[in-house]
Amino acid sequence: MTDELMDYDDALALYDPVLGLEVHVELNTNSKMFCGCSTEFGAEPNTQTCPVCLGLPGSLPVVNGKAVESAMRIGLALGCEIAEWCRFARKNYFYPDMTKDFQTSQYDEPIAFDGSVTIEVDGVPYEIPIERAHMEEDAGKLLHVGGATGRIQGAEYSLIDYNRAGVPLIEIVTKPVRGTGYNAPEVAKAYVSFLRDMLRSLGVSDVRMEQGSLRCDANVSLMPKGTHELGTRTETKNVNSLRSISEALRYEIRRQAAILASGGRIIQETRHWHEDGGYTSPGRNKEQAEDYRYFPEPDLVPIAPSREWVEQLRGTLPEMPSVRTKRLQEVWGFTDREFGDILAGSALDLVEATVEAGASPAGARKWWVTELARRANEAGLELSELAITPAQVAALQKLVDAGTINDKLARQVIDGVLAGEGEPDEVVRSRGLAVVSDSGALEAAVDRAIAADPDAAQKIRDGKVQAAGALIGAVMKEMRGQADAAAVRALVLHRLS
Ligand SMILES: [Zn+2]
Repeated sequence: MTDELMDYDDALALYDPVLGLEVHVELNTNSKMFCGCSTEFGAEPNTQTCPVCLGLPGSLPVVNGKAVESAMRIGLALGCEIAEWCRFARKNYFYPDMTKDFQTSQYDEPIAFDGSVTIEVDGVPYEIPIERAHMEEDAGKLLHVGGATGRIQGAEYSLIDYNRAGVPLIEIVTKPVRGTGYNAPEVAKAYVSFLRDMLRSLGVSDVRMEQGSLRCDANVSLMPKGTHELGTRTETKNVNSLRSISEALRYEIRRQAAILASGGRIIQETRHWHEDGGYTSPGRNKEQAEDYRYFPEPDLVPIAPSREWVEQLRGTLPEMPSVRTKRLQEVWGFTDREFGDILAGSALDLVEATVEAGASPAGARKWWVTELARRANEAGLELSELAITPAQVAALQKLVDAGTINDKLARQVIDGVLAGEGEPDEVVRSRGLAVVSDSGALEAAVDRAIAADPDAAQKIRDGKVQAAGALIGAVMKEMRGQADAAAVRALVLHRLS
Protein backbone atom coordinates (compact mmCIF):
# COMPACT_ATOMS: atom_id res chain seq x y z
CA MET A 1 0.00 0.00 0.00
CA THR A 2 1.65 3.19 -1.18
CA ASP A 3 -1.29 5.57 -1.48
CA GLU A 4 -1.02 9.08 -0.10
CA LEU A 5 -3.93 9.67 2.26
CA MET A 6 -5.38 12.92 3.55
CA ASP A 7 -6.65 13.13 7.10
CA TYR A 8 -10.38 12.31 7.01
CA ASP A 9 -11.48 15.54 8.71
CA ASP A 10 -9.30 17.63 6.36
CA ALA A 11 -10.74 15.79 3.35
CA LEU A 12 -14.29 16.55 4.50
CA ALA A 13 -13.41 20.20 5.04
CA LEU A 14 -12.44 20.47 1.34
CA TYR A 15 -14.77 18.04 -0.45
CA ASP A 16 -18.32 16.69 -0.45
CA PRO A 17 -18.48 12.93 -1.09
CA VAL A 18 -21.11 11.58 -3.48
CA LEU A 19 -22.00 7.93 -3.02
CA GLY A 20 -23.31 5.31 -5.40
CA LEU A 21 -24.13 1.83 -4.16
CA GLU A 22 -24.70 -1.29 -6.23
CA VAL A 23 -25.93 -4.25 -4.27
CA HIS A 24 -26.25 -7.74 -5.75
CA VAL A 25 -28.68 -10.07 -4.04
CA GLU A 26 -28.77 -13.77 -4.77
CA LEU A 27 -32.39 -14.93 -4.65
CA ASN A 28 -33.26 -18.08 -2.70
CA THR A 29 -35.35 -19.68 -5.45
CA ASN A 30 -35.06 -23.48 -5.73
CA SER A 31 -34.05 -23.35 -9.38
CA LYS A 32 -31.89 -21.06 -11.54
CA MET A 33 -33.03 -17.96 -13.43
CA PHE A 34 -33.47 -19.55 -16.86
CA CYS A 35 -33.37 -23.33 -16.33
CA GLY A 36 -34.48 -25.97 -13.85
CA CYS A 37 -31.05 -26.61 -12.26
CA SER A 38 -30.86 -26.57 -8.48
CA THR A 39 -29.36 -23.52 -6.75
CA GLU A 40 -28.36 -25.31 -3.56
CA PHE A 41 -25.13 -23.98 -2.06
CA GLY A 42 -22.16 -26.27 -1.49
CA ALA A 43 -22.88 -29.11 -3.95
CA GLU A 44 -20.09 -31.00 -5.75
CA PRO A 45 -18.67 -28.78 -8.54
CA ASN A 46 -20.47 -28.89 -11.89
CA THR A 47 -23.25 -31.21 -10.73
CA GLN A 48 -25.93 -28.52 -11.05
CA THR A 49 -25.66 -27.65 -14.73
CA CYS A 50 -27.56 -28.25 -17.95
CA PRO A 51 -27.31 -27.16 -21.61
CA VAL A 52 -29.06 -23.85 -20.80
CA CYS A 53 -26.78 -22.63 -18.01
CA LEU A 54 -23.73 -23.98 -19.86
CA GLY A 55 -24.80 -22.00 -22.92
CA LEU A 56 -24.73 -24.99 -25.28
CA PRO A 57 -25.91 -24.40 -28.87
CA GLY A 58 -29.61 -24.88 -29.43
CA SER A 59 -30.62 -24.57 -25.78
CA LEU A 60 -33.37 -22.11 -24.96
CA PRO A 61 -33.87 -20.28 -21.66
CA VAL A 62 -37.19 -19.90 -19.82
CA VAL A 63 -37.74 -17.21 -17.17
CA ASN A 64 -38.19 -18.34 -13.55
CA GLY A 65 -41.58 -16.93 -12.50
CA LYS A 66 -40.75 -17.06 -8.80
CA ALA A 67 -37.65 -14.92 -9.41
CA VAL A 68 -39.76 -12.33 -11.26
CA GLU A 69 -42.17 -12.27 -8.33
CA SER A 70 -39.27 -11.77 -5.87
CA ALA A 71 -37.86 -8.99 -8.05
CA MET A 72 -41.21 -7.19 -8.02
CA ARG A 73 -41.61 -7.54 -4.25
CA ILE A 74 -38.10 -6.11 -3.76
CA GLY A 75 -38.94 -3.26 -6.14
CA LEU A 76 -42.16 -2.49 -4.27
CA ALA A 77 -40.39 -2.57 -0.89
CA LEU A 78 -37.90 -0.03 -2.29
CA GLY A 79 -40.79 2.24 -3.24
CA CYS A 80 -40.14 1.67 -6.97
CA GLU A 81 -42.45 1.76 -9.97
CA ILE A 82 -42.94 -1.68 -11.51
CA ALA A 83 -42.50 -1.70 -15.28
CA GLU A 84 -45.64 -2.51 -17.28
CA TRP A 85 -43.38 -4.07 -19.88
CA CYS A 86 -39.70 -4.89 -19.75
CA ARG A 87 -37.13 -7.08 -21.41
CA PHE A 88 -33.90 -8.89 -20.75
CA ALA A 89 -30.74 -7.84 -22.54
CA ARG A 90 -27.44 -9.47 -23.38
CA LYS A 91 -24.39 -7.95 -21.74
CA ASN A 92 -21.53 -9.18 -23.89
CA TYR A 93 -18.09 -9.90 -22.59
CA PHE A 94 -15.52 -12.65 -22.45
CA TYR A 95 -15.17 -14.24 -19.09
CA PRO A 96 -14.29 -17.88 -18.46
CA ASP A 97 -16.95 -18.15 -15.74
CA MET A 98 -19.75 -17.51 -18.24
CA THR A 99 -19.67 -19.95 -21.16
CA LYS A 100 -22.28 -18.03 -23.12
CA ASP A 101 -19.88 -15.07 -23.36
CA PHE A 102 -22.75 -12.85 -22.35
CA GLN A 103 -24.71 -12.34 -19.19
CA THR A 104 -28.48 -12.23 -19.45
CA SER A 105 -29.33 -9.05 -17.61
CA GLN A 106 -31.59 -6.02 -17.95
CA TYR A 107 -30.30 -2.78 -19.38
CA ASP A 108 -32.55 0.16 -20.25
CA GLU A 109 -35.74 -1.68 -19.30
CA PRO A 110 -35.43 -2.76 -15.66
CA ILE A 111 -38.38 -4.38 -13.91
CA ALA A 112 -38.33 -1.79 -11.09
CA PHE A 113 -37.21 1.86 -11.12
CA ASP A 114 -37.44 5.25 -9.39
CA GLY A 115 -37.76 4.37 -5.74
CA SER A 116 -36.43 5.73 -2.51
CA VAL A 117 -35.80 4.57 1.04
CA THR A 118 -34.99 6.50 4.20
CA ILE A 119 -32.37 5.28 6.63
CA GLU A 120 -31.06 6.79 9.86
CA VAL A 121 -27.57 7.41 11.19
CA ASP A 122 -27.39 8.69 14.79
CA GLY A 123 -31.02 9.72 14.60
CA VAL A 124 -30.52 11.78 11.41
CA PRO A 125 -32.64 10.62 8.44
CA TYR A 126 -31.06 10.27 5.00
CA GLU A 127 -33.03 9.66 1.84
CA ILE A 128 -31.41 7.16 -0.51
CA PRO A 129 -32.80 7.56 -4.04
CA ILE A 130 -33.08 4.25 -5.90
CA GLU A 131 -32.36 4.27 -9.62
CA ARG A 132 -33.43 0.72 -10.41
CA ALA A 133 -33.64 -2.90 -9.36
CA HIS A 134 -33.11 -5.30 -12.23
CA MET A 135 -32.93 -9.04 -12.79
CA GLU A 136 -29.87 -10.89 -13.99
CA GLU A 137 -27.97 -14.14 -13.53
CA ASP A 138 -24.86 -14.95 -11.56
CA ALA A 139 -21.65 -16.23 -13.17
CA GLY A 140 -19.76 -19.41 -12.27
CA LYS A 141 -16.92 -19.55 -9.79
CA LEU A 142 -13.18 -19.73 -10.51
CA LEU A 143 -10.79 -21.56 -8.23
CA HIS A 144 -7.11 -20.66 -8.72
CA VAL A 145 -4.83 -23.46 -7.63
CA GLY A 146 -1.14 -23.42 -6.76
CA GLY A 147 -0.52 -19.79 -5.80
CA ALA A 148 0.01 -18.59 -2.26
CA THR A 149 -2.91 -16.19 -2.19
CA GLY A 150 -5.67 -18.05 -4.03
CA ARG A 151 -5.58 -15.29 -6.64
CA ILE A 152 -4.92 -15.81 -10.32
CA GLN A 153 -1.45 -14.23 -10.02
CA GLY A 154 1.04 -17.02 -9.31
CA ALA A 155 -1.52 -19.81 -9.74
CA GLU A 156 -0.50 -22.94 -11.67
CA TYR A 157 -3.95 -23.57 -13.08
CA SER A 158 -7.57 -22.62 -12.52
CA LEU A 159 -10.71 -24.72 -12.10
CA ILE A 160 -14.22 -23.62 -12.96
CA ASP A 161 -17.44 -24.53 -11.15
CA TYR A 162 -20.59 -23.69 -13.11
CA ASN A 163 -23.03 -24.55 -10.33
CA ARG A 164 -23.51 -20.86 -9.59
CA ALA A 165 -23.84 -19.87 -13.28
CA GLY A 166 -27.43 -18.83 -13.83
CA VAL A 167 -28.46 -18.36 -10.20
CA PRO A 168 -30.97 -15.46 -10.07
CA LEU A 169 -29.60 -12.11 -8.98
CA ILE A 170 -31.22 -8.78 -8.35
CA GLU A 171 -29.01 -5.74 -8.72
CA ILE A 172 -30.16 -2.72 -6.75
CA VAL A 173 -28.59 0.54 -7.90
CA THR A 174 -28.88 3.91 -6.18
CA LYS A 175 -28.88 7.27 -7.89
CA PRO A 176 -25.98 9.51 -6.78
CA VAL A 177 -26.43 10.01 -3.04
CA ARG A 178 -25.47 13.58 -2.10
CA GLY A 179 -25.48 15.54 1.11
CA THR A 180 -24.25 12.81 3.45
CA GLY A 181 -21.07 14.77 4.24
CA TYR A 182 -19.03 13.51 7.13
CA ASN A 183 -21.36 10.55 7.68
CA ALA A 184 -21.02 9.21 4.10
CA PRO A 185 -19.31 5.93 5.08
CA GLU A 186 -21.82 5.31 7.88
CA VAL A 187 -24.77 6.13 5.62
CA ALA A 188 -23.58 3.53 3.11
CA LYS A 189 -23.22 0.96 5.86
CA ALA A 190 -26.65 1.75 7.30
CA TYR A 191 -28.21 1.48 3.84
CA VAL A 192 -26.79 -1.99 3.19
CA SER A 193 -27.77 -3.03 6.70
CA PHE A 194 -31.29 -1.78 5.96
CA LEU A 195 -31.37 -3.76 2.70
CA ARG A 196 -30.22 -6.90 4.50
CA ASP A 197 -33.00 -6.65 7.09
CA MET A 198 -35.56 -5.76 4.46
CA LEU A 199 -34.62 -8.64 2.14
CA ARG A 200 -34.67 -11.04 5.07
CA SER A 201 -38.14 -9.94 6.12
CA LEU A 202 -39.30 -10.35 2.50
CA GLY A 203 -37.92 -13.92 2.64
CA VAL A 204 -36.39 -13.62 -0.86
CA SER A 205 -32.71 -14.25 -0.03
CA ASP A 206 -30.42 -15.79 2.59
CA VAL A 207 -28.59 -12.41 2.62
CA ARG A 208 -25.34 -13.96 3.86
CA MET A 209 -22.56 -11.51 3.03
CA GLU A 210 -19.89 -14.06 3.94
CA GLN A 211 -21.34 -16.59 1.44
CA GLY A 212 -21.73 -13.93 -1.22
CA SER A 213 -25.53 -13.93 -1.36
CA LEU A 214 -25.41 -10.18 -0.63
CA ARG A 215 -22.57 -8.26 -2.30
CA CYS A 216 -21.91 -4.56 -2.39
CA ASP A 217 -19.89 -2.43 -4.80
CA ALA A 218 -19.31 0.99 -3.28
CA ASN A 219 -18.79 3.99 -5.58
CA VAL A 220 -17.60 7.33 -4.37
CA SER A 221 -16.48 10.59 -5.93
CA LEU A 222 -15.58 13.95 -4.43
CA MET A 223 -16.88 17.42 -5.30
CA PRO A 224 -14.91 20.47 -4.16
CA LYS A 225 -17.07 22.22 -1.55
CA GLY A 226 -19.39 24.79 -3.09
CA THR A 227 -19.43 23.15 -6.54
CA HIS A 228 -22.14 20.91 -7.99
CA GLU A 229 -20.44 18.99 -10.76
CA LEU A 230 -19.86 15.31 -10.03
CA GLY A 231 -16.25 14.25 -9.86
CA THR A 232 -14.74 11.05 -11.29
CA ARG A 233 -15.74 8.03 -9.24
CA THR A 234 -14.08 4.79 -8.34
CA GLU A 235 -15.90 1.54 -7.66
CA THR A 236 -14.64 -0.61 -4.83
CA LYS A 237 -15.47 -4.30 -5.12
CA ASN A 238 -15.04 -7.26 -2.84
CA VAL A 239 -16.56 -5.48 0.13
CA ASN A 240 -18.09 -8.41 1.97
CA SER A 241 -18.96 -7.17 5.42
CA LEU A 242 -20.86 -4.18 6.74
CA ARG A 243 -17.79 -2.90 8.52
CA SER A 244 -15.75 -3.10 5.32
CA ILE A 245 -18.23 -0.88 3.50
CA SER A 246 -17.61 2.09 5.78
CA GLU A 247 -13.87 1.40 6.03
CA ALA A 248 -13.38 1.06 2.27
CA LEU A 249 -15.30 4.29 1.60
CA ARG A 250 -13.38 6.16 4.26
CA TYR A 251 -10.15 4.99 2.66
CA GLU A 252 -11.24 6.01 -0.86
CA ILE A 253 -12.34 9.45 0.34
CA ARG A 254 -8.95 10.03 1.97
CA ARG A 255 -7.06 8.69 -1.09
CA GLN A 256 -9.04 10.71 -3.63
CA ALA A 257 -8.78 13.88 -1.53
CA ALA A 258 -4.99 13.58 -1.41
CA ILE A 259 -4.81 13.20 -5.21
CA LEU A 260 -7.20 16.07 -5.94
CA ALA A 261 -5.58 18.44 -3.44
CA SER A 262 -2.17 17.91 -5.07
CA GLY A 263 -3.61 18.78 -8.48
CA GLY A 264 -3.92 15.20 -9.75
CA ARG A 265 -6.97 13.57 -11.29
CA ILE A 266 -8.90 10.47 -10.33
CA ILE A 267 -8.84 7.51 -12.71
CA GLN A 268 -12.23 5.92 -13.27
CA GLU A 269 -11.54 2.35 -12.29
CA THR A 270 -12.57 -0.66 -10.30
CA ARG A 271 -10.67 -1.07 -7.05
CA HIS A 272 -10.35 -4.02 -4.70
CA TRP A 273 -10.74 -3.80 -0.95
CA HIS A 274 -8.17 -5.69 1.11
CA GLU A 275 -9.81 -6.57 4.36
CA ASP A 276 -6.53 -7.56 6.07
CA GLY A 277 -4.49 -4.48 5.21
CA GLY A 278 -7.41 -2.06 5.23
CA TYR A 279 -6.66 -0.51 1.81
CA THR A 280 -7.90 -0.52 -1.79
CA SER A 281 -5.83 -1.37 -4.86
CA PRO A 282 -6.55 -0.72 -8.55
CA GLY A 283 -8.29 -3.41 -10.62
CA ARG A 284 -9.32 -3.06 -14.23
CA ASN A 285 -10.27 0.23 -15.82
CA LYS A 286 -14.01 0.57 -15.55
CA GLU A 287 -15.84 -0.35 -18.74
CA GLN A 288 -18.40 2.02 -20.12
CA ALA A 289 -21.87 0.68 -20.86
CA GLU A 290 -21.19 0.88 -24.62
CA ASP A 291 -18.28 -1.55 -24.24
CA TYR A 292 -20.77 -4.30 -23.43
CA ARG A 293 -22.75 -3.95 -26.67
CA TYR A 294 -26.03 -4.51 -24.90
CA PHE A 295 -28.93 -5.66 -27.08
CA PRO A 296 -32.37 -7.12 -26.30
CA GLU A 297 -32.31 -10.85 -25.58
CA PRO A 298 -34.04 -12.50 -28.56
CA ASP A 299 -34.62 -15.87 -26.85
CA LEU A 300 -36.85 -14.58 -24.04
CA VAL A 301 -40.32 -13.08 -24.24
CA PRO A 302 -40.76 -9.65 -22.64
CA ILE A 303 -42.23 -9.48 -19.15
CA ALA A 304 -45.49 -7.59 -18.77
CA PRO A 305 -46.78 -8.05 -15.22
CA SER A 306 -50.48 -7.20 -14.89
CA ARG A 307 -51.39 -4.38 -12.49
CA GLU A 308 -53.53 -6.88 -10.57
CA TRP A 309 -50.46 -9.02 -9.94
CA VAL A 310 -48.46 -5.98 -8.83
CA GLU A 311 -51.18 -4.90 -6.39
CA GLN A 312 -51.58 -8.42 -5.08
CA LEU A 313 -47.81 -8.55 -4.37
CA ARG A 314 -47.94 -5.11 -2.75
CA GLY A 315 -50.49 -6.62 -0.36
CA THR A 316 -48.01 -9.35 0.67
CA LEU A 317 -45.27 -6.93 1.74
CA PRO A 318 -44.34 -7.34 5.40
CA GLU A 319 -44.01 -4.36 7.66
CA MET A 320 -40.57 -2.87 7.00
CA PRO A 321 -38.09 -3.54 9.84
CA SER A 322 -37.51 0.14 10.65
CA VAL A 323 -41.25 0.80 10.80
CA ARG A 324 -41.75 -2.23 13.02
CA THR A 325 -39.08 -1.27 15.56
CA LYS A 326 -40.45 2.29 15.79
CA ARG A 327 -43.98 0.98 16.29
CA LEU A 328 -43.00 -1.54 18.95
CA GLN A 329 -40.94 0.95 20.95
CA GLU A 330 -43.88 3.34 20.95
CA VAL A 331 -46.49 0.73 21.87
CA TRP A 332 -44.32 -0.74 24.61
CA GLY A 333 -43.35 2.66 25.98
CA PHE A 334 -39.63 1.98 26.33
CA THR A 335 -36.93 4.65 26.46
CA ASP A 336 -34.25 4.57 23.76
CA ARG A 337 -31.89 2.93 26.23
CA GLU A 338 -34.36 0.25 27.31
CA PHE A 339 -35.29 -0.48 23.73
CA GLY A 340 -31.62 -0.37 22.67
CA ASP A 341 -30.89 -3.21 25.08
CA ILE A 342 -33.54 -5.32 23.37
CA LEU A 343 -32.15 -4.60 19.88
CA ALA A 344 -28.53 -5.08 20.95
CA GLY A 345 -29.42 -8.42 22.53
CA SER A 346 -31.26 -9.60 19.39
CA ALA A 347 -34.29 -10.08 21.63
CA LEU A 348 -36.92 -8.17 19.63
CA ASP A 349 -38.73 -11.20 18.19
CA LEU A 350 -38.63 -13.01 21.54
CA VAL A 351 -39.90 -10.05 23.54
CA GLU A 352 -42.66 -9.48 20.99
CA ALA A 353 -43.75 -13.13 21.16
CA THR A 354 -43.65 -13.02 24.97
CA VAL A 355 -45.87 -9.94 25.03
CA GLU A 356 -48.23 -11.63 22.58
CA ALA A 357 -48.37 -14.59 24.98
CA GLY A 358 -49.69 -12.29 27.69
CA ALA A 359 -46.70 -10.81 29.54
CA SER A 360 -46.31 -7.08 30.13
CA PRO A 361 -43.61 -5.51 27.90
CA ALA A 362 -41.54 -4.63 30.97
CA GLY A 363 -41.79 -8.18 32.32
CA ALA A 364 -40.93 -9.70 28.95
CA ARG A 365 -37.97 -7.37 28.51
CA LYS A 366 -36.69 -8.00 32.03
CA TRP A 367 -36.30 -11.76 31.62
CA TRP A 368 -34.90 -11.80 28.08
CA VAL A 369 -32.45 -8.93 28.44
CA THR A 370 -31.02 -9.86 31.84
CA GLU A 371 -31.47 -13.35 33.29
CA LEU A 372 -31.93 -15.27 30.02
CA ALA A 373 -29.28 -13.25 28.16
CA ARG A 374 -26.86 -14.22 30.92
CA ARG A 375 -27.79 -17.93 30.65
CA ALA A 376 -27.41 -17.86 26.86
CA ASN A 377 -24.07 -16.14 27.17
CA GLU A 378 -22.81 -18.70 29.68
CA ALA A 379 -23.96 -21.60 27.51
CA GLY A 380 -22.51 -20.07 24.33
CA LEU A 381 -25.96 -20.09 22.72
CA GLU A 382 -28.07 -17.59 20.84
CA LEU A 383 -30.91 -16.29 22.97
CA SER A 384 -33.39 -18.02 20.67
CA GLU A 385 -31.60 -21.35 21.16
CA LEU A 386 -32.33 -21.49 24.89
CA ALA A 387 -34.71 -24.30 25.86
CA ILE A 388 -37.39 -21.90 27.00
CA THR A 389 -40.17 -20.46 24.85
CA PRO A 390 -41.73 -16.99 24.88
CA ALA A 391 -44.96 -18.64 26.09
CA GLN A 392 -43.09 -20.15 29.04
CA VAL A 393 -41.51 -16.80 29.90
CA ALA A 394 -44.96 -15.20 29.78
CA ALA A 395 -46.28 -17.94 32.10
CA LEU A 396 -43.37 -17.34 34.46
CA GLN A 397 -44.09 -13.61 34.61
CA LYS A 398 -47.76 -14.34 35.28
CA LEU A 399 -46.77 -16.46 38.30
CA VAL A 400 -44.72 -13.51 39.59
CA ASP A 401 -47.55 -11.04 38.95
CA ALA A 402 -49.98 -13.33 40.82
CA GLY A 403 -47.64 -13.45 43.82
CA THR A 404 -47.21 -17.22 43.52
CA ILE A 405 -43.45 -16.79 43.21
CA ASN A 406 -41.07 -13.86 43.59
CA ASP A 407 -38.22 -12.90 41.24
CA LYS A 408 -35.72 -14.96 43.19
CA LEU A 409 -37.87 -18.10 43.00
CA ALA A 410 -38.55 -17.34 39.33
CA ARG A 411 -34.86 -17.81 38.62
CA GLN A 412 -35.10 -21.31 40.10
CA VAL A 413 -38.16 -21.95 37.93
CA ILE A 414 -36.05 -20.96 34.90
CA ASP A 415 -33.45 -23.50 36.02
CA GLY A 416 -36.17 -26.16 36.03
CA VAL A 417 -37.60 -25.23 32.63
CA LEU A 418 -34.13 -25.17 31.06
CA ALA A 419 -33.43 -28.58 32.63
CA GLY A 420 -36.51 -29.98 30.90
CA GLU A 421 -38.65 -30.34 34.02
CA GLY A 422 -41.74 -29.04 32.27
CA GLU A 423 -43.86 -25.91 32.23
CA PRO A 424 -43.23 -23.17 34.85
CA ASP A 425 -46.25 -24.13 37.00
CA GLU A 426 -45.13 -27.77 36.97
CA VAL A 427 -41.64 -26.75 38.09
CA VAL A 428 -43.14 -24.63 40.89
CA ARG A 429 -45.11 -27.70 42.08
CA SER A 430 -42.42 -30.33 41.67
CA ARG A 431 -39.70 -28.21 43.29
CA GLY A 432 -42.05 -26.81 45.94
CA LEU A 433 -41.14 -23.24 45.03
CA ALA A 434 -44.36 -21.36 45.66
CA VAL A 435 -44.36 -18.46 48.08
CA VAL A 436 -45.91 -19.66 51.36
CA SER A 437 -49.29 -18.01 51.58
CA ASP A 438 -50.51 -20.25 54.44
CA SER A 439 -50.88 -17.54 57.14
CA GLY A 440 -50.76 -20.10 59.93
CA ALA A 441 -47.33 -21.35 58.84
CA LEU A 442 -46.07 -17.78 58.44
CA GLU A 443 -47.36 -16.70 61.85
CA ALA A 444 -45.70 -19.71 63.46
CA ALA A 445 -42.40 -18.83 61.81
CA VAL A 446 -42.71 -15.21 62.97
CA ASP A 447 -43.40 -16.32 66.53
CA ARG A 448 -40.35 -18.60 66.48
CA ALA A 449 -38.16 -15.74 65.20
CA ILE A 450 -39.42 -13.41 67.96
CA ALA A 451 -38.77 -16.04 70.59
CA ALA A 452 -35.26 -16.64 69.26
CA ASP A 453 -34.28 -12.95 69.31
CA PRO A 454 -35.88 -11.26 72.35
CA ASP A 455 -33.50 -8.24 72.10
CA ALA A 456 -34.70 -7.34 68.62
CA ALA A 457 -38.30 -7.91 69.67
CA GLN A 458 -37.89 -5.53 72.63
CA LYS A 459 -36.37 -2.82 70.40
CA ILE A 460 -39.36 -3.02 68.07
CA ARG A 461 -41.74 -2.81 71.02
CA ASP A 462 -39.78 0.33 72.04
CA GLY A 463 -40.51 1.83 68.62
CA LYS A 464 -37.18 1.08 66.86
CA VAL A 465 -38.85 -0.27 63.71
CA GLN A 466 -35.57 -0.68 61.80
CA ALA A 467 -34.73 -3.57 64.13
CA ALA A 468 -37.42 -5.56 62.31
CA GLY A 469 -34.87 -6.35 59.59
CA ALA A 470 -33.19 -9.04 61.65
CA LEU A 471 -36.49 -10.79 62.38
CA ILE A 472 -37.71 -10.57 58.77
CA GLY A 473 -34.38 -12.05 57.64
CA ALA A 474 -34.73 -14.93 60.08
CA VAL A 475 -38.26 -15.69 58.86
CA MET A 476 -37.27 -15.52 55.17
CA LYS A 477 -34.39 -17.88 55.91
CA GLU A 478 -36.65 -20.36 57.63
CA MET A 479 -39.11 -20.18 54.73
CA ARG A 480 -36.20 -20.72 52.29
CA GLY A 481 -37.05 -17.47 50.52
CA GLN A 482 -40.55 -18.67 49.75
CA ALA A 483 -42.35 -15.86 51.53
CA ASP A 484 -43.47 -12.40 50.60
CA ALA A 485 -41.07 -10.13 52.52
CA ALA A 486 -43.62 -7.30 52.74
CA ALA A 487 -46.19 -9.64 54.30
CA VAL A 488 -43.61 -10.95 56.78
CA ARG A 489 -42.72 -7.41 57.79
CA ALA A 490 -46.37 -6.47 58.35
CA LEU A 491 -46.87 -9.58 60.44
CA VAL A 492 -43.76 -8.92 62.62
CA LEU A 493 -44.83 -5.32 63.30
CA HIS A 494 -48.40 -6.38 64.03
CA ARG A 495 -47.27 -9.03 66.55
CA LEU A 496 -45.06 -6.57 68.41
CA SER A 497 -47.28 -3.47 68.34
ZN1 LIG B 1 -29.12 -25.30 -15.89
